[in-house]
Amino acid sequence: MNCKHDFIFFEKADEKAQKKEKEKARSLKKKQWWKNKLAEGYCYYCGKHVGSDNLTMDHVVPIVRGGKSTKGNIVAACKECNSKKKYLTPVEWDEYLKRIMSN
Ligand SMILES: [Zn+2]
Repeated sequence: MNCKHDFIFFEKADEKAQKKEKEKARSLKKKQWWKNKLAEGYCYYCGKHVGSDNLTMDHVVPIVRGGKSTKGNIVAACKECNSKKKYLTPVEWDEYLKRIMSN
């Protein structure tokens, strides 16, 4: 059997740091900055206008991979993109992004 696996290892943030970033994200949700993003209603990834009710907060670099809860790393994503991001591998996610952005 010829199985070729490309494993990608990411530096895992420690639990304490992850917790801190999650708390920061929660407090950012209360900020006007975030409310404005929701009010705009656009998904950062696919660019679709889905309305504030269908947007979720997403970390471009996930917290588990060492991403921070900063304005530069937090975007509004539609539910479709958000769930895709969860189940796709980082490589597949990259390909998905390339595909939707070239449309
Ligand atoms: Zn989207």
